[in-house]
Formats: sequence, C-alpha cells, structure tokens
Amino acid sequence: MKQLERLLFLQGQRCFFCQQSIPDGEASVEHLVASANGGTNGDDNCVACCKAVNSALGSLSIKEKLRVVLNQRGPFSCPKSRNSNQIDGAALVGPDEERIFAVLADLQKRGSARPRKVGTLQNTISAVFHKKLTEQEVEYLFEALVAKGYVVVDDQKVSYALPQRAG
Ligand SMILES: [Zn+2]
Repeated sequence: MKQLERLLFLQGQRCFFCQQSIPDGEASVEHLVASANGGTNGDDNCVACCKAVNSALGSLSIKEKLRVVLNQRGPFSCPKSRNSNQIDGAALVGPDEERIFAVLADLQKRGSARPRKVGTLQNTISAVFHKKLTEQEVEYLFEALVAKGYVVVDDQKVSYALPQRAG
C-alpha cells in the first residue's frame, strides 16, 4: 500500500486540514515538518491533504502552519472557555465571542418567544447577522452555544439556559 493510500485510509479518506473528502487525483502527502526543515518521511510526520493546501503551506515552519490552521474558523476551543458561563466583559474576547454575545442578547430579548426548533434557531442566528454569515458560520455559532451549555438540544427541539443579562 502506498503511503498516500494508507494515510487516506487512516484519515477516513478525508483531508487532514479541511476534513472534506478529496477528489481523485487531488490528494497529496504533506510533511508537517517540511523535508527542508529536517522532517522525516514517516507516517508520524506526514498527512494526506488536498494538493492546494499542501502547496500553499510549502515549507513553512510547523509554527506558521499551526497559525494558518488556527486562523481558519473552526470548532476548536480551549478548555477554559467552556467554564465561562458568565457573560462578563473580560471573558468576551475575539470575534467569535462577540458573535455569541450578540446571539445571546437577541435570545434574551425574545423572552419566551425563543425558537423551539433547531432549524428556527439557526434562522434566528442568521437573522441576527442580517443573513451575512455563511451556513458554516451559523452552524459553528449554533454548536458553540450548545458546547457552552446555553442551548440544550433534544432531538430537533431546543431549550435554553441563558446567562444573566450583563450589567
Ligand atoms: Zn483539504
């Protein structure tokens, strides 16, 4: 088995970075620590990914690559943010937190007229941002609300455990 095929198998046929399935002929082996920087050809240093991201990353240092990955919006959150159930200015940093805060404020305003279904809540989130977010961004915000415990999902129904209003 070739390394590329093996890595693809191990990754469930998905790109290491974007986690999408890779079209035929578009997969390539990326050295996380570039060969030019002393990286080995072993599986522990290699991932299968889309050719496009492979050539974009080139021989950047592993630190720079991490920065590139982290700059993309994704569901990664550090453990401490899960504890920040209190809405206070200090806990709200970065655009994601600002967006979550905007959604929470909107939900609080609605009182008992909050959406009761997952789909309706996602529409509401979209409306808070004047439908300017991508579907992925809406989904991400929704998941963040669930991860932080503000929204509880039971099948397609949602209930709320919103924080006290700020101030
Ligand atoms: Zn990819």
